[in-house]
Formats: sequence, structure tokens, C-alpha cells
Amino acid sequence: MSLTESDIIDRFFSAGGPKRADVLLGIGDDAAILGMPRDHDLVTSVDMLIQGRHFPEDMTAVDIGYRAMAVNLSDMAAMGAEPAWATLALSVPEASESWLSGFSTGLLGLAGLHGVALVGGDTVKGPLAMSVQIMGFVPCGSALRRDGARPGDGVYVTGRPGEAAAGLAIWRRGLQEPQGPAAGLLRRFTRPEPRLAEGRDLRGIASACIDVSDGLATDLGRLARASGAGAIIDLDALPMSDALSAVADPIEARSYVLGGGDDYELCFTVPQWALSDFERCASRWGCPVTAIGEICEQQGLYARISDEIEALEEGGFDHFR
Ligand code: ADP
Ligand code: MG
Repeated sequence: MSLTESDIIDRFFSAGGPKRADVLLGIGDDAAILGMPRDHDLVTSVDMLIQGRHFPEDMTAVDIGYRAMAVNLSDMAAMGAEPAWATLALSVPEASESWLSGFSTGLLGLAGLHGVALVGGDTVKGPLAMSVQIMGFVPCGSALRRDGARPGDGVYVTGRPGEAAAGLAIWRRGLQEPQGPAAGLLRRFTRPEPRLAEGRDLRGIASACIDVSDGLATDLGRLARASGAGAIIDLDALPMSDALSAVADPIEARSYVLGGGDDYELCFTVPQWALSDFERCASRWGCPVTAIGEICEQQGLYARISDEIEALEEGGFDHFR
């Protein structure tokens, strides 16, 4: 590498995004020191992205940086947590200035939007791969979890699930600069918007929550299983975007909605007693939210079409991954 590890850190990562008073010691020492707010629980998660497996070989550096931060922010959103700090472990095959500059722009740009400070990391030479660890907090005991759903709770999803997977399919067909609805779908894949404000609003309201990374059916199945229950999806209630309807026939579009990954929307459950509070806060959201079904006692995942209920094969929608 012509740039040394410390050159890379100084030039691309030391600025570290927003300054936070609770970063007592940031990049530059052996470890960071972070001041936890009183009466809060620490919420932390880590995600690893490997070229060719978690993002396409030809994805731009800015998009990769954005994605590495977005997938972690989405985990914070799913917990109802306020993200605060992140660390970055980065493996790059060469010290390319233009790549590193694009990557840090994408990563730190999105971190800045959500007030997250980069407080440390590690930089090595190797195959292109990166891992961001994110840390945030919630008032004690108030984090959203997967395991709190109960039979009778309503099931909801934010946004338009399926659009990101349709965007990835467009990318794979080599349409780098698509027009019309396809352009919007591609953007849903390259620029997922972590639902942080929505996740925080759901504290004290949602009984369970998960972010949709592997497909709505798969992730709702995980939530239901963690809660020791099952879920019924009303197929006719699924949100269907105009963009998706424009590029896929109705059957294919429904498969995208149920099985497509990479949406980073929130899927959550609301008990009857919290419905009016929920409707009040959801009316202020900048994204759509749709009631798509309910939690049931019988474990498993079911589909309801015109009052008939059938088992939905779990994992049967995996093929878009
Ligand atoms: P050490 O050998 O003590 O681990 P390093 O030379 O690896 O120290 O890192 C020096 C400082 O730079 C540390 O504070 C580390 O957290 C930070 N750092 C290294 N790589 C990155 C990176 N990619 N992003 C942010 N901070 C980094
Ligand atoms: Mg190190």
C-alpha cells in the first residue's frame, strides 16, 4: 500500500462524522471511551459485508459505504434504539484513494444524518470486506424485541417491501441507469432508509419488532417463532407499489413482496390496547405503514385469501436472496 494504515485513518476516517459530547475518547488511542447516559440500556449489533456475497462486485464505493452503515442502523431501528457510536473493521485489497474517499463519504454521510460518531476501527489489507459495529441506547427496559408478540396482535409493515429485491434484479440484468419506475426500484436497493424515528416511536406500543432484511415472510416467521406463536398474512392486504406493478406481473410482484430481501423496513406487532396510540404516532410518519395480518396461537406462517387460510411454506420465498 502506498498509503499507510495511519494515512488511511487520518485522511478518510478520523473526522469520524458528528462530534458527540459523550465520546470521551475517540479515534487515535487503543480503544474508545464512551459515556453512557444514565438509566439507559446499551444496545449493540454487528454486521459483516463481503463483496460478491452481500453486495454486487460492481457496486460503487459510496453505495457500499452507505450500505455498511444502513444495515446496522436498521438493526438499531428494529430495537427502538437511538444509535450513537460505531466502529469499522475494514479489509481492502489496495489503498485506492478514490475508493476510500467514496466509501467514507457514503458511510460517514449516513452516520452524520443520524448523529452517529465513528469512534474506532481496524484497517487491514485483504479481500474487500467490512464490518461495522453499532452501539446505541434505550431507556432501561424499553427496547423492542422479537419475542413479545401475542395471539390477536395486529401485524404491520412499513414502506413497500419487495421493491429492493426488484431493484437488485434490475441491477443484475445490467441496467445501471434505468429510467422511470425501474430507477426508483434500483434506488430502494442501493439506498435503503433505516426506519429509526419509526422504531423509536414504537417503544411502549409494539409488542414485537424485526427489520426485514431476508424477506417479509422469513422475518415475520422469525418474529412469530421467537414469540412462541404463529402469524397469518392477509395476501390481499399486502402493500403493492406502482413501481413494482409496473415491472412485474401480479404473481411475481407478490413473490417480491413476501420473499424479496434487502428492504430494511420494520415488521412489528401491535396489541389491541395500543392501537389508538399507534395510529396517532403512525399518522406523523413520513413512510407508509400497512396492516398485513395478525398473530395466531398455532405456530407457523399462514396466508389468508378471501377467508381461506393456508399454510405458507416458510423459507419458500428464499430464492430472491
Ligand atoms: P491498534 O494497533 O492499537 O489497534 P490501529 O493502528 O489499528 O491501533 O488504529 C489506530 C487508531 O485508529 C485506533 O484508535 C483505531 O480505533 C482507529 N482506526 C483504525 N482503523 C480505523 C477505521 N477503519 N475506522 C475508524 N477508526 C480506525
Ligand atoms: Mg488495530
